[in-house]
This record gives sequence, structure tokens and C-alpha cells, in this order.
Amino acid sequence: MSDTDVRDLIIIGGGPAGYTAALYAARANLNPLVIEGVTFGGQLMITSDVENYPGYPGGVLGPQMMQDFRAQAERFGAEYLTDDVTEVDFSERPFRVKVGDDEYLARAVIVATGASARQLGLESERALQGKGVSYCAVCDAAFFREKNVVVVGGGDSAMEEAIFLTKFAEKVTIVHRREEFRASPIMLDRARANSKIEWITYAVVDEVLGEEGKVTAVKIHDVSTDETREIPADGLFVAIGHDPNTSLFLEQLDHDKAGYLAVEPGSTATNIKGVFAAGDVVDHTYRQAVTAAGTGAMAALDAERLLAEEEGHEATALAAPRLEAEKETAEV
Ligand code: NAP
Repeated sequence: MSDTDVRDLIIIGGGPAGYTAALYAARANLNPLVIEGVTFGGQLMITSDVENYPGYPGGVLGPQMMQDFRAQAERFGAEYLTDDVTEVDFSERPFRVKVGDDEYLARAVIVATGASARQLGLESERALQGKGVSYCAVCDAAFFREKNVVVVGGGDSAMEEAIFLTKFAEKVTIVHRREEFRASPIMLDRARANSKIEWITYAVVDEVLGEEGKVTAVKIHDVSTDETREIPADGLFVAIGHDPNTSLFLEQLDHDKAGYLAVEPGSTATNIKGVFAAGDVVDHTYRQAVTAAGTGAMAALDAERLLAEEEGHEATALAAPRLEAEKETAEV
């Protein structure tokens, strides 16, 4: 499905930000093509129950929620390509987006490729994802009320996750591979002052053990003595950092040193006019589905507004409330 026509909008990425951008853009008649990636759905595909997304009072499974997002945008005409973008050229408009040998052209692009939690890379970790292995305490801590959990990592994320988990879990064991911690002193002190947190240093996780599809223990080995032991646990939180999925864009879009894309404050506009960015690709602070969806909506509104301005016509109903609000302010 390659076309030589110039589309209004291509959205790269199929997670909460990309699908929400698609919903808003489709309803604004921008006929978006969403190149959603082979493993579409983003980080929610490795989450189990999502209980903190508004509108689902009984909770929802992460993969189901992504199916719902996707279907909602499709209902208004969003098109999907379940493949990975291999190259982009933002040097001139129309922008060029390549998927292997196929090339797609668009007047505007929204980058919503998200971030990926770093994984330990163990087979048992993969097998028990969403069944006790988690990458997000804010999302999953409540499932570990009165339970024992292990947190791996020695940075601020690990401290933050461990402290958050103590609100629910009976005991939280931080396993870190060194004696020194990368975490900031204040976070480390806070974690050290918490009596529910135990510490194991010089240790790495070898395997996550499970029975009947649930985590039962974490097998670790001491890197100084080479001794191996099992820590009984109901959950393993891997908190060894996140990486934004931005390698395709780094040469063309402004970014910080960790690779997160830079946008104008209060907007989703990148340094290239017509290219917008939304979701975890710009956000290393909140990283929630609901915040990603919010910035996805912003990106579609920003793109629609720009395209309408360039065509020299009034923005559609979609952008009208903002224009009205501006007019009112101007008239005051
Ligand atoms: P990070 O600072 O890169 O720390 C990652 C930690 O995971 C390090 O301790 C590292 O160990 C360990 N690690 C990495 N790969 C590992 C592996 N394969 N096996 C075992 N351990 C592994 O990442 P982060 O904690 O996510 O923080 C990222 C940035 O966000 C930082 O700038 C941080 O300050 C910021 N942040 C701030 C807050 C806050 O202020 N509230 C909260 C979260 C994050 P080594 O030290 O041995 O490399």
C-alpha cells in the first residue's frame, strides 16, 4: 500500500498518543494514515489491568484498551499500516516517510513512537510480563497489597517505584548490581528511611520463577561471591530506565541528551514546521496513558490548525473553540 498522493497527515506510532491523534485528526477530515508499528499498542500491551484510565470504572486490560482506542479512530476513517517506519525525510514538504521500499508523503507528521521500558532480557521475565512482572508501579502497585515485591535498579526510578510500592506491599526488596547508587541523594535517603524497604546490593536477577502463570520468587546471584539464592516474591518491578523510541528522528528533530524530542512549551510543535510530537516520546516525567492521549489530541489539533492556516481557510469546528476563546480574550 504505497501511494504517490500527498496526504494531509501521517501519524507514526500506535499507542495512546498515536491513536488519540488519529481519532481527532480523522474527525477533522484529515484522513490520517497511522503507521502503527509491527508491535502496535505500545507499553500497554505488556500491562495487565489498567485501573487508572478514566472512563473504565471496572478497569480494563491494557491490550483491550488499545484495541478500543484503535477501533474508535478507525470508525472515523483512520487508516492503519501495521508496519515499522524505516526512514523519514523532514528536510522539505511534503515530508517523506518510508516503510521499507514503500514511501508515503504528507504535509504534516505526528511522531508518537513512545518509549520502551528497559528490560532485563530474561526469557522468564518476558513470559511473566503482566503476570507479576511489571515496569510501572503507578499502574500496578495496587495489585500487590500486603504482598512481597522485588524492585530491580539503583536509579531515581527504582527509588520512586519502591517508595510508591510500600503504600501497598508488605515488603519491598531493592536489588541493585552495585554498592553505589545512581539515584539522587534525596531519593535514596527517602527510600533508606522507609522501614518496609530491604536492600540487596551486588546482586543481579538471573530468573523470575513462576507457578500457574504467577510470579512466586526471584532468583538472584551475588556478583561478588557468585552465590545464588531465591527471594520469595509475588511481583518483580523492573525499574532500570526507559528509552524513547526516537532513533529514526534524532538527526532531524531537536532532542535532549537522553533522546526525548523537544517541543515548543505548551504545544506539540517540533523544530520543523509541520512535524509534531506527542506522548512518551517527549515526556520523561509523567509517562501515563492518559497524559499521552492528551498530548496526542493536542498534536492533532496543532496539525489541523496549521494545515487550515496554510490553506487560507478558517479552521474547522475542531479548532474553532480555541479561536473563539482567543477572540474573546482579544476583545476584553
Ligand atoms: P537511570 O538513572 O539510568 O538508572 C538506571 C538504573 O538501573 C541504574 O542504577 C543501573 O545500574 C540499573 N540498570 C541498568 N540496566 C540494568 C540491568 N540490565 N540490570 C540491572 N540493573 C540495571 O534510570 P532512571 O532511574 O529511570 O532515571 C532516568 C532519569 O529520570 C534520571 O535522570 C532520573 O534522575 C530521572 N528520574 C527522576 C525522578 C524524580 O526526580 N522523581 C524519578 C524517576 C526518574 P548502574 O547504576 O549500575 O548502571
